[in-house]
Amino acid sequence: LEVAERIAAGEVIERPASVVKELLENALDAGAHELRIEIRGGGLRMIRVTDDGYGIPEHELEAVCQRHTTSKIRTFEDLSALHTFGFRGEALASIATIAEITILSRTVEAEQQDDEQAAFWITLRGNEMIQRGRRARLHGTTITVRDLFYNVPARLSFMRGARTENSHILQLVRKYAAGYPATRFTLILDEHLALQTSGSGSVVEALTELYHLSLKELLSPIELSDGAHYRLYGYLGNRILAQHNRQYLTLFVNGRLVNSRGLQEALEQGYRSLLPKGKHPLLVLHIEVPPPELDANIHPAKAEVQLVYEKEITRVLTQAVQSVLEHNPV
Ligand code: ADP
Ligand code: MG
Repeated sequence: LEVAERIAAGEVIERPASVVKELLENALDAGAHELRIEIRGGGLRMIRVTDDGYGIPEHELEAVCQRHTTSKIRTFEDLSALHTFGFRGEALASIATIAEITILSRTVEAEQQDDEQAAFWITLRGNEMIQRGRRARLHGTTITVRDLFYNVPARLSFMRGARTENSHILQLVRKYAAGYPATRFTLILDEHLALQTSGSGSVVEALTELYHLSLKELLSPIELSDGAHYRLYGYLGNRILAQHNRQYLTLFVNGRLVNSRGLQEALEQGYRSLLPKGKHPLLVLHIEVPPPELDANIHPAKAEVQLVYEKEITRVLTQAVQSVLEHNPV
């Protein structure tokens, strides 16, 4: 395997939480209602994500780990009409290059054909197929990643302890669970249940389950759209819920968890009269923009986005947050 390939893969996959993010997004893209994430040794020993999505057909199992394989763009035009998350078809290929990966899957169709043994699995290590087989399972996909970075010593030496990696994973899963309240999330860290949501569909309920607080009176809904360039919706936590860092500031753009300085600052600006400096709000906000107005193509690992109408949107965001908080003082 080319050293350059491993380095490139190590750039897409920065740490175990990056693997978890890619696997979660794929499972959500596949329509999962139930998602189970199991982690061992900070994710370096094992990461396993099990979903009940539509599954991967047997003849595609090998291909999904090849670079640029994606079921999410068929034609060039699709690129600008893209609604799903990743579109590069790079995540699984990168993971397979720097770890051992086992993909077990059964499609909804196979299940309808009533063939008990119609779940297929394949294991690759350093992107070479080492084993395959079939067994029974319900429809959906289980992806198990072992020995992450086994062939990227530079990355491995950069890893912090399992506790640090676990806390990155916990924060990430919490954010997704808050953003997708209709999906039931379970996170198990070294055999301990770290988080579980009911998948009821209610954001307030999901947040209550995630943060172990009764939040009902402490959250204000926000919803706004100009009918063309943006739609915003979510919940804003009041000042009692403020934090010392941004770990409870959860922002999705077109369903994808993002890290955007500009948008974060616009939100915090809306809280300015309420929160002292250095305090950050708890909130869950979805921003939907027409796909051509979003460039998520900056860097696959960075979760950064650039919006065509960012300036207008940040202005609207600040105003909307201010006005919601003014009308719901706590
Ligand atoms: P991308 O998500 O950008 O298409 P990935 O490398 O993440 O690229 O995944 C490659 C392909 O593997 C996806 O396009 C999808 O067809 C398939 N796939 C991956 N994970 C799942 C899953 N959990 N359920 C169904 N299909 C999946
Ligand atoms: Mg993907």
